[in-house]
Amino acid sequence: MRATILHGPGDVRVEERPKPLVEKPTDAVIKVVAACVCGSDLWPYRGIADYGPAAAMGHEYVGVVETVGNEVKLVKPGDFVVGSFFASDNTCEICRSGYQSRCVINEHVGAAQAEYLRVPLADGTLVATPGQPDPDLMPSLLAASDVLGTGWFAAVAAESGPGKTVAVVGDGAVGLLGVLSARQLGAERVIAMSRHPARQAVAREFGATDIVAERGDEGVAKVKELTGGMGAHSVIEAVGTQQSMEQAIHACRPGGHVGFVGIAHEVALNGLDLFFSGVHLHGGPAPVRRFLPDLIKLIWDRAINPGLVFDLTLPLDQAPEAYKAMDERRAIKALLQP
Ligand SMILES: [Zn+2]
Repeated sequence: MRATILHGPGDVRVEERPKPLVEKPTDAVIKVVAACVCGSDLWPYRGIADYGPAAAMGHEYVGVVETVGNEVKLVKPGDFVVGSFFASDNTCEICRSGYQSRCVINEHVGAAQAEYLRVPLADGTLVATPGQPDPDLMPSLLAASDVLGTGWFAAVAAESGPGKTVAVVGDGAVGLLGVLSARQLGAERVIAMSRHPARQAVAREFGATDIVAERGDEGVAKVKELTGGMGAHSVIEAVGTQQSMEQAIHACRPGGHVGFVGIAHEVALNGLDLFFSGVHLHGGPAPVRRFLPDLIKLIWDRAINPGLVFDLTLPLDQAPEAYKAMDERRAIKALLQP
């Protein structure tokens, strides 16, 4: 089968790899219908993170179950499924408390930018849709696998809700879907921080009420100006840099909540600054599995259209161009069709 392999910074190739097989009785193998390139895939692509000499890429996927191990009970061959990027048994104490991305059995689902994918702990990781989806739902269901689930978690962690003003730091797909999520959770006002006109337009489409183009201290000053000098009740951080974390903490009012989901790269917070900020900080790898049933229902009922974040669709063979377009910020998010 064909799979996307990262050989080093800037060097992505689509190559032949052995088709994955069921290895454990709890595994499923799915035929991937759609996958995509994640903002986090750009870290190793840019040489900021090292994934080793030949890394099989991709962790966002939808597909059709092909084979299952003999202990898999909840999904069966032929089911159309959406999965999360961490495998979870969905039965341990951590999973039952809603933190499936930190399941005691810690297995990452990798190699999804390929024709077939082995999914460990299939019963606790995959969720079947009510039937075979219409093709126009495919991008939105794929978004649920990571970017929507992550934006949703950030909005929940930031305690978005009725009467709240939510500021969103980061205008990548996760940040944009954080806007959608905050609105769905009832936020009255959502301030999207973006200086990119096409992304501002998507943010508006998803329900942003205000746009702030300034960054850093100037961006914080703008958020304060829009909130009577107090700062937002809730802030979603969807980048993972020193500047974005500081911007998020400083844009939040004392007693407010910051939900951070950008994978932190060399972020070091100043203790005294954090102490006097008086904010709640909660984040980490999103437990997408917690939200999947609800998100699938919202998509199935066409109540939300998160698939709008995909502004580039390419065949799997053109994965190198998908990475390049996202790296150069020509595309918000690229969908790959095996
Ligand atoms: Zn678990």
